Amino acid sequence: MIRFDEPVSVLLRCAQQLYPALATKVVLVDGMHAADGAWGMTWWPDGAGELHPDWEDGITALILIDASAPYYAVPDILAHELAHAVAGPDGGHADVFAAAYLALHAAFSRAHGCEPTAELVAELHTLVDCARTGRPYEPAGSEIVPGGV
Ligand SMILES: [Zn+2]
Repeated sequence: MIRFDEPVSVLLRCAQQLYPALATKVVLVDGMHAADGAWGMTWWPDGAGELHPDWEDGITALILIDASAPYYAVPDILAHELAHAVAGPDGGHADVFAAAYLALHAAFSRAHGCEPTAELVAELHTLVDCARTGRPYEPAGSEIVPGGV
């Protein structure tokens, strides 16, 4: 028997439990980071009505993750983008986004049998602040590599 708690699947289960109405599709894309510096992006239809090629009926947001993102960073990148999907196209990095981002990380920690540490929560608040202000995130010894927009 081989058992592997694949972190992306665990995070997606957490998101569905926290936000049962969330309807999003996650796709891997090539070259997004090279083109615009983002490891992740959440896409909604704009006023022009033209849909992204990966859009599907029934979803309310499309999440793009750069396939070259470091594997260990993907859960945080995805949590960031899922929080955008929860907050909606006008939510930016404001309070609804921040609450969802923190809740997703807390659920992810609990899914792995531990409560989020004070250090993790402080780091997540710093990441939200960086997302809000555009200030670069340059931690010493962090295991989180953010990059969503
Ligand atoms: Zn963002």
